Amino acid sequence: MKLKNGAEYIESLRHLKPVIYYKGKRIKDVTRHSATAAHVRAAAMTYALAGKEKYKDLATTTSHLTGRTISRFTHVHQNIEDLIKKIKLLRVLGQKTGTCFQRCVGFDGINAVYSVAYEIDRKLGTEYFERFKKWLTYIQDENLMVVGAMTDPKGDRSKPPADQPDPDQYVHVDERRDDGVVSRGAKLHMTGAVNSHEILVMPTTALDERSKDNAIVCAIPIDAPGVTMIFGRQAGDDRRDKLERIDVGKPRFGVVGGEAVLVFEDVFVANDRIFMDGENDFAGSLVYRFAAHHRANYGACKTGLMDVLTGAVSYLAQIQGAAGGSHIRDKVTEMIHLSETLYSSSIACSAEGTPTPSGAYMVDTMLANVCKQNVTRFHFEVARLATDIAGGFIATLPSEYDLESEDVGHLVRKYFSGVAGIPVKERIKIGRLIEAMTGGTAMVESMHGAGSPQAQRIMIFREGKLAEKVKLAKALAGIPQKRQPQKE
Ligand code: SF4
Ligand code: FE
Repeated sequence: MKLKNGAEYIESLRHLKPVIYYKGKRIKDVTRHSATAAHVRAAAMTYALAGKEKYKDLATTTSHLTGRTISRFTHVHQNIEDLIKKIKLLRVLGQKTGTCFQRCVGFDGINAVYSVAYEIDRKLGTEYFERFKKWLTYIQDENLMVVGAMTDPKGDRSKPPADQPDPDQYVHVDERRDDGVVSRGAKLHMTGAVNSHEILVMPTTALDERSKDNAIVCAIPIDAPGVTMIFGRQAGDDRRDKLERIDVGKPRFGVVGGEAVLVFEDVFVANDRIFMDGENDFAGSLVYRFAAHHRANYGACKTGLMDVLTGAVSYLAQIQGAAGGSHIRDKVTEMIHLSETLYSSSIACSAEGTPTPSGAYMVDTMLANVCKQNVTRFHFEVARLATDIAGGFIATLPSEYDLESEDVGHLVRKYFSGVAGIPVKERIKIGRLIEAMTGGTAMVESMHGAGSPQAQRIMIFREGKLAEKVKLAKALAGIPQKRQPQKE
């Protein structure tokens, strides 16, 4: 079976009729609208790479369900090699797009749900695993893009889901029927939602007995009745509106992944698309497995972005005649060092992966959390160094209109020139690329995507085996292991 390529993916989106709003107006065609087309192109790269001989081994694999060739983005990791190949693939895609290509969220959701559905069935005799495998075979065969929908709005954060004055602050089952359920609520920050085919809904947190109605995992077509999306704004999107190709920095791709609010207003879900309904005890491990997979990814996709940024400032230094400076070389060296250090933790948490009872492989969760925590520092430090090398130039550049102006264009060209033989336009283009990759939206995504830094710190402390470390210290210092401080 031939896999959908990039052009066929884009064409397939034109046959869907999702309800999407942006700046108060309905978007009719995500593949052509100026706000969304760049994100569609980034996701299309995940399809395109699968057709390239050089990347086939990373971008495709064999389905353990059917034996057929599938996109890796629809695969359930069967071994450590799968986990490592995913990481390598994400770095390449980060390098080629310079942005988020979105498809990993559904990928990680698939892997988390697969293993948890298996465990629910084994304990409770339900039939979620078989249903899920059937749905997944459809996703694999059609090579569909899935948005993993996890983050609920949460309303008053001092209250658990069951105590929210407005129950819609957490996605929940509102009504149960013989043939399925009716769900309500919303998911925020949904990367790639507007250009996905399917939504994989998952709970946002561990849930207690009182929150059984929130323990819902299900698949919903993106254009199902009752689903509405509101597309978010990104830094510089007005530039994209007017197609200012130079000033936009990355004309082909977005600043980040293209996030939307995903609203469910009485959405019906048929039984064969429900993979958890009321098994609240399993919500915590589902969320945690998803988060760990996604945190592992960040050390790969962001390293790809950091590679681009390192290349951009190095080239800028070359065309400004500054590349030979020892301080520039030292800063670039530090950028490379940080990128490779970050990548190491992505590889490490994959190399230390282990099988779950379903056979699906999990990354090492401690190392995955460390990896994402490092993203919130190293990516920022790399962006700081890039801004340092680039100079104030990237904040004060005149616009493309001035460059093309009959009145002042010659002045822009004169005073923004660098070394001989390099068109001013190219110096501006590389400056704008650096601006787009170090600006607000890009860095906020890096900080909070896959969970805010505090979420990782909680897990790092919890999994840090502190008691064992205390034992090690006592043994070496010659202190009896049973010695404990007096409790007040
Ligand atoms: Fe994939 Fe990275 Fe985007 Fe997450 S932020 S969806 S890991 S590219
Ligand atoms: Fe992200």
